[in-house]
Amino acid sequence: MKSDPVACPLPRILIVDDDPGTIRLLAQILKDLGKVYFTTQSMEALTLAQSISPDIILLDIEMPGLSGLEVCERIKSDPKFEDVPVLFVTSNVGVDVEARALTGGAIDFIHKPPAAALVKARVRNYLALKQKTDQLKMLSMLDGLTGVSNRRAFDKALAEEWRRAVRMGHSLSLIMLDVDHFKRFNDAYGHQAGDDCLRAVATTIKESVKRPGEMAARYGGEEFAVLLPNCSLDHALALAEIVRSSVEALAIPHGASDACTLVSISCGVAHVCAPIKTNDELPNITLNLRQAALDSTATDLVHEADKALYKAKTNGRNRVETAQLTLRNDVDQQHGG
Ligand code: GH3
Ligand code: MG
Ligand code: MG
Ligand code: MG
Repeated sequence: MKSDPVACPLPRILIVDDDPGTIRLLAQILKDLGKVYFTTQSMEALTLAQSISPDIILLDIEMPGLSGLEVCERIKSDPKFEDVPVLFVTSNVGVDVEARALTGGAIDFIHKPPAAALVKARVRNYLALKQKTDQLKMLSMLDGLTGVSNRRAFDKALAEEWRRAVRMGHSLSLIMLDVDHFKRFNDAYGHQAGDDCLRAVATTIKESVKRPGEMAARYGGEEFAVLLPNCSLDHALALAEIVRSSVEALAIPHGASDACTLVSISCGVAHVCAPIKTNDELPNITLNLRQAALDSTATDLVHEADKALYKAKTNGRNRVETAQLTLRNDVDQQHGG
C-alpha cells in the first residue's frame, strides 16, 4: 500500500505501519489535521520522509525488516528531521521499550488500539509545537530591519555551499555589496531615513537574486552579501552590475556622496572553481587541487570579495570589481607532487 505525495500547504502527517488496518484507522482519525501520507514498508519510510518532509511521523515499533526503532534512529540522524516529532504507535508497552524509543529520538507514544480522541489531541499538540519551532527557526535566520537573510543564515549557507562545491566540483561566486558614504547619508538625512534606505536597498538586492540556491543576506551594518552556487564569474559580474544599476535606479537622493548624486553601492565579486569530483580514480593533479580546495576555506572567498570591494571603493565607488580566489596550493606544488 502506497500513497502518492503531492505538494501541499497543509501539515504533512506520515504514518508507517505494516498493518493496513491500523493505517486506515489512524488516517481516518487524523484526516482533518493535515494531509496524510503512509507506507506499510519500513524501508520506504526513509525515502518517503525525504520526499514529503513530514511535519509529524507516526511509527509502528514492530515491523518486518527495519524495526520502528531503527527507522526512528535513521530519520533522526538527518539534521533535516531533528524538529520533526516522531510518535510510536505500539501495543508493546514496557519501561525498557519506551525508554529506548525516547532515547532514540521519539517524542511520545500512541497505544494500540488507538483511541481517536487521544490520538487527535496528541497529534494536534505536536503539530502546533512543530509549527512554532519552524516559525522561530525561520525568524532566527532573518534580519529584523530588512527582512532578508541574516548573517547567521549566510554563514551557514556559505559553509554548506563551499562543501557542496568541493564535493561536486562546482564553482561558487560571492558578491559583497556596501552602500557608499552611508555615514554621511545618516548624518545628512537622519537615522530613520538611513533605515528606510537600507530596507529599499535590501529589497532591490533580494529581487535580483532569483535562481534556486542563490541567497541575498545582510552581512552587517550597510553591507550585504549575495551567494551564488554553481555560477560562472561572468554571470556573477553581470548580476552585480544589475544590482548596482537597480540601486541607482531607486533614485534616493544622496547630496553628501561624492560617488553619485543618488544612493549607490560598491560591489566586490569573488569566484572560485573547485575542479573536484571524487576521491578515487583521478590523476594526481586533480587530487592535489582537491586538497587545495579543502585547505582553502569559505572564509578565503569572503576575503577575496572584500578585497574586490575595497578596490571598488578606492576606484571611485558605485562600481563592480572582481578578484579570483587562488587555491592555497599553487600550480608548481601540484606538479611537484
Ligand atoms: P564607504 O563608502 O567607504 O562604505 O563609507 P560609509 O560611510 O558607508 O562607511 P562607514 O563604515 O564609515 O559607515 C557605515 C555607516 O553605516 C555607519 C553606521 O552608522 C551606518 N549603519 C550601519 N548599520 C545601520 C543601520 O542599521 N541603520 C542606519 N541608519 N545606519 C546604519
Ligand atoms: Mg507492526
Ligand atoms: Mg559603506
Ligand atoms: Mg561598510
